[in-house]
Amino acid sequence: MLEITKENIEKAIEKARITKPKVKVLEFRRYAVTNKTTGANYEVSFTKIGGKKFADCTCPATKICYHIGASIGAHIVLAEQMHTATR
Ligand SMILES: [Zn+2]
Repeated sequence: MLEITKENIEKAIEKARITKPKVKVLEFRRYAVTNKTTGANYEVSFTKIGGKKFADCTCPATKICYHIGASIGAHIVLAEQMHTATR
């Protein structure tokens, strides 16, 4: 599990903007990310522990990768909707 920080997620989001992978929601906190050029498909999941955010990706990267960067945009929107819905 990799901890998400403001610095590493900003870099990942920036890379995702260039790479523009396809993000599909599997369920809340789980996403499938496909590289449109190579067709490579990876799964990203998010966890929150004690106020800290963590992410996992099935790709070989050992840091916060652009798959996570691509997913977090969709994740933030969904999490806000869930939050609003439960109020
Ligand atoms: Zn990845």
